[in-house]
Amino acid sequence: MTATVIDGKAFAAKVRGLVGEGVAKLKADHGITPGLAVVLVGEDPASQVYVRSKGKMTVEVGMHSIEHKLDVATSEADLLALIDQLNNDPAIHGILVQLPLPDHLDSDLVINSIDPAKDVDGFHISNVGLLGTGQKSMVPCTPLGCLMMLRDYHGSLSGMNAVVIGRSNIVGKPMAQLLLGDSCTVTIAHSRTKDLPHVVRQADIVVAAVGRPQMVPGDWIKPGATVIDVGINRIEKPDGGTRLVGDVDYDSCAAVAGAITPVPGGVGPMTIACLLANTLTACCRANGLPEPEGLTA
Ligand code: NAP
Repeated sequence: MTATVIDGKAFAAKVRGLVGEGVAKLKADHGITPGLAVVLVGEDPASQVYVRSKGKMTVEVGMHSIEHKLDVATSEADLLALIDQLNNDPAIHGILVQLPLPDHLDSDLVINSIDPAKDVDGFHISNVGLLGTGQKSMVPCTPLGCLMMLRDYHGSLSGMNAVVIGRSNIVGKPMAQLLLGDSCTVTIAHSRTKDLPHVVRQADIVVAAVGRPQMVPGDWIKPGATVIDVGINRIEKPDGGTRLVGDVDYDSCAAVAGAITPVPGGVGPMTIACLLANTLTACCRANGLPEPEGLTA
């Protein structure tokens, strides 16, 4: 079998198009422009690239974009004061603090100081609790993007066996909650899981969020299963230079799976698209307006 390639790049463009339509309608019908504020502390090169790209796409869908670039030595008090100001700014509907933060800043404290209604990353403890109890919340962008692609490909996920490899707070755990919410039978695997190949072979859906290049080989995959590869790893090419690979060995998995997301061009582009979707959702909720359909869990 050769797997169907789930084109995350094209799907993300479609999601951004829907967000753009929602923004245009908000402006035309209510005179409201959704606003997203991104806060970056320090000069981590990867974070700078992400923040630039987020700002560009925010403007492209017609939203108001603000970037706060703070010195690496910014004090916790100053950062918390900025977040307080953004929490109270009616023109801002989404706040994202780019992680990782420098070591002297307490990430949990900072994230939990964001108004949960503006927490478009979905990392605030209130949103984690709401998601875990099946209530309306802001949903973390990367797992939301994975869920959207799975729903689009399969329709209903009800009754499917899903194995999530990885239990991080930003991907693995919320992914498992979302799959459970869609009535999958969910297993969360991690570094202490016994006989991981056997566990993964039971899965109709495999979500790999491990951070280990090409760790999952094709002979772990049940024929016809759907493979969602969250991993983004840079490896050296034999002839020099580097390339991006996922957490699954693409070629051997694609030979067995029914469907698979590539790296790059799979989950990655969906993450920013879902950030924009969350900002639109947050704006609609803040104004007591109906939420756009199909853009959240
Ligand atoms: P993380 O916080 O480092 O978590 C990795 C998880 O993988 C941990 O739960 C760890 O288990 C588990 N793990 C490590 N080695 C394992 C092994 N040999 N067998 C089974 N499980 C193992 O990573 P993360 O933040 O979730 O990110 C995971 C990957 O996704 C990374 O490649 C990251 O770059 C990528 N990512 C992509 C996007 C995107 O937009 N596409 C967004 C976020 C992350 P323990 O808990 O037992 O240590």
